[in-house]
Amino acid sequence: MPDTPSSAAGTGVLADLNALRAIGAYRSGVHKPTFSAPHLESLQWLLAKLPEAGLTGAIDGIGNVLTTSTKTGPKLLAGSHLESQNYAGWLDGPLGVIYALEAARVLNNDPDVTGAVEVAAWCDEEGHFGHFLGSRSYVGGVTEADIDAASDRSSGRAMREALSAAGLAGIPRQAAERGRHVGYLEAHIEQGRTLESEGLKIGIVTSIVGIFQYRITFTGEQNHAGTTRMTDRRDAGLALAKFCVAIDERFPHICGPRTVWTTGRITLDPGAPSIIPGTADMLFQVRDADVAVVARLEAELQTMAEEVNAQARCRVTVECIRRGTPAMMESKFQQAIEAASSNFAGGKSLRMPSGAGHDAQVLATIMPAGMLFVPSIGGISHHWTENTADEDIVTGAQVFVDACRRLLTQ
Ligand SMILES: [Zn+2]
Repeated sequence: MPDTPSSAAGTGVLADLNALRAIGAYRSGVHKPTFSAPHLESLQWLLAKLPEAGLTGAIDGIGNVLTTSTKTGPKLLAGSHLESQNYAGWLDGPLGVIYALEAARVLNNDPDVTGAVEVAAWCDEEGHFGHFLGSRSYVGGVTEADIDAASDRSSGRAMREALSAAGLAGIPRQAAERGRHVGYLEAHIEQGRTLESEGLKIGIVTSIVGIFQYRITFTGEQNHAGTTRMTDRRDAGLALAKFCVAIDERFPHICGPRTVWTTGRITLDPGAPSIIPGTADMLFQVRDADVAVVARLEAELQTMAEEVNAQARCRVTVECIRRGTPAMMESKFQQAIEAASSNFAGGKSLRMPSGAGHDAQVLATIMPAGMLFVPSIGGISHHWTENTADEDIVTGAQVFVDACRRLLTQ
């Protein structure tokens, strides 16, 4: 039934996204770190748009924009985030907020729809001050001490100072009203190449990967780089390098189809050209939606460490420093997106896990959640060249609005 009123959706979406792009513009993208002037201006822009969607709202004490509708019937929570990475793209975040706003404009003003979409813009999804501070605050996972301890990773500015400068000091943080929402739906750019390379328009997210981080520390013997013979050395840096190579040789045989792993930082101590490193450590990250796969890889890391230790040249320890459990997306939400995409995207959709973290994984801890992806040109994101074809943006909005309609009426 492509002639349902939802087919009118999508028309205002491009104009809205371009309006947000003009705030804090950087080349063809934006620079809107959390609590920067352009970020705060974007939140105000959203507040000014709420009346046309039948919503009232405000910025809470951690910088979330939360809204309510007085319409009777079920409520669906929908949104994403408005801050950006530094000098990054225009769609990472705003796309999901504007789709949610569009769904609210269409459905909240439709007398045939009982229930309403309530829009949220979660603060600091991009992690300038922490991990998902806005959405975690909403689900009750952030303490006042957490905020006291948080600071901007780029400038070092304390979060309390940033909140105060934004006029948010002393304003209460708003917590989820349990049972109010039938669930949470978020749209996002894919940030990868899967949809584009397969000629598809909509990604139906099945799960959001868990992120597991390890500190792997090598201990050898610090010594003189000129006088220590090669056979006598206990070079912690060399042991680390060999370990990285061994991971890349062994993991492909035991990983899952979409597992990814990264050594993001290597530190050699003391880190001088004429000194054999006495200690070395690496920060290593694994992402997968299947905890059993991660457990297998973690066991392999321990086995590899034992093998190194058995050679008695250097000692190695593997310590897990972060376990991010994967979040499953609700099947009813996946079905609603799939049905909507057969109506508005010719069924060109694919069920897929998300390799990136999103606020939906936090919301999924307290209510059913779902996510929809639109294609990213070249798979590029977290860069100012990030983009999606206008036509794909509009199609995605139509699918999103129709999925919201289905979730409110079924
Ligand atoms: Zn994002």
